Amino acid sequence: MIDLRSDTVTRPTPAMRRAMADAIVGDDVYREDPTVNRLEERAAEIFGKEAGLFVPTGTMGNTIGLKMHTSHGQEIICDARAHILNYELAMAAWFAGCLCRAIPTANGILSWELIRREIRAVSPHVAPTGLIEIENTHNMGSGSVYPPQVINEICDGAHSMGLRVHMDGARVFNASTAVGVPVHELTAKVDSVMFCLSKGLGAPVGSMVVGRKDDLAQGRLYRKRLGGGMRQAGVLAAAGLIALEEMPQRLHEDHANAKFAAQRLAETRGVKIDPASIQTNIVIFDVAGTGRTGPELSAQLKERGVLINAVNAASMRIVTHFDVSRADCESAISALREVIG
Ligand SMILES: *Cc1c(COP(=O)(O)O)cnc(C)c1O
Repeated sequence: MIDLRSDTVTRPTPAMRRAMADAIVGDDVYREDPTVNRLEERAAEIFGKEAGLFVPTGTMGNTIGLKMHTSHGQEIICDARAHILNYELAMAAWFAGCLCRAIPTANGILSWELIRREIRAVSPHVAPTGLIEIENTHNMGSGSVYPPQVINEICDGAHSMGLRVHMDGARVFNASTAVGVPVHELTAKVDSVMFCLSKGLGAPVGSMVVGRKDDLAQGRLYRKRLGGGMRQAGVLAAAGLIALEEMPQRLHEDHANAKFAAQRLAETRGVKIDPASIQTNIVIFDVAGTGRTGPELSAQLKERGVLINAVNAASMRIVTHFDVSRADCESAISALREVIG
């Protein structure tokens, strides 16, 4: 099977498996797991933040990130296709007691100008804004990337109004690779960042939240409350350390493969995609012109050993990662062409 559904399908490398087997562990709820402690310190160091917190999933990391900056009854400003709004089971409402104030955008990328107009003060009729959330790279924006300057403008604007900014940086290392700016510079003004070890970086499990020490002391309690106190989690953190230290360097290969796939898709009958718009490892393309729906094409591709998910009736999504090669991408597009006829 050539699996282009998501970069979450990556399996741990031999080096990760060895590190997992050899990991020195302890009870992380007592903060006695040296490998988890090391991972949290290294994540904080790499992002230039005071502290880090190892969490089982990106969803839990965002849940904690939103909760530690807000109080019940506030609004969180995000773009309309944000992962936190559409793919996390309404957790902003469920755990933080907040509503999302969604701003429509072309490709998921907000600007301070768009955000500023939606900020609400305390009033007898409207909920006050509690937090700004930005997603970098943007999943449903086809892996689009925030220009570093736009992040800084959003943070400066938010901070001048006493508001904080959380970054859903599930793929922030892809963003960093695309703009050629290290993550500590890219996120210098952001108050907290969640990023995934388990996607393009290849770890089997795990995400991180980095930010201020006092925020994350509170965040650690939220993690326990959410059921994320994982005891001898060093076996997972050991793989996470390799993901963090060694895997970002190769993400440009995934980006080149995504660009290649986008170019081949652009030459495919009935498919619409602008290859120039592809910046990272996600390629969302329009299949309306094929006369088939996304789910129909997806089912037919599966019979040919290719896994590509539909986003909706009219579009599909390819995600490149280190378990698929250039040749795999080539075969996948050939299979799609066969299916389309
Ligand atoms: C994958 C992802 C997450 C978190 O996903 P988990 O499956 O919970 O680890 C959060 N935000 C974005 C943009 C994602 O793509």
